[in-house]
Amino acid sequence: MSASIDILIDAVKDADLKQIAQKVKLQQRISDEEGIILFEKADLPFVGALANFIRERLHGDTTYFNRNFHIEPTNVCVFSCKFCSYSRLYAHKEEGWELSIEQMLDIVKTYDGKPITEVHIVGGVHPKWIWLILLN
Ligand code: SF4
Repeated sequence: MSASIDILIDAVKDADLKQIAQKVKLQQRISDEEGIILFEKADLPFVGALANFIRERLHGDTTYFNRNFHIEPTNVCVFSCKFCSYSRLYAHKEEGWELSIEQMLDIVKTYDGKPITEVHIVGGVHPKWIWLILLN
């Protein structure tokens, strides 16, 4: 494992990135500023290799996965994010969906007895649901 990070340290040309990799090897915490340097200078495989080095140090060959399912209560949304492929503005809500609490609970019940570790709830920002969701 240590040999792999030594190869990485030898290969990287940038002095800042080399120093960060050295800190990771020595189990030293990187600073916020070094995190920004990673964001600005490092490519994804480099960051992934550092992360994997730490993962293997902590867990060896064991890898953990989250087992979740998603509930998307609605796609009606006050926003129109450019990357979003499924939202509908309130003015066009008939093209979207709005699940009731009972419908959401029915989805949850379909996973009874299954080894789920998370219910991931994500969806549109419905302009009329703020109080309803807070109340429930
Ligand atoms: S559903 Fe989420 S991603 Fe899509 S427009 Fe609304 S806020 Fe943006």
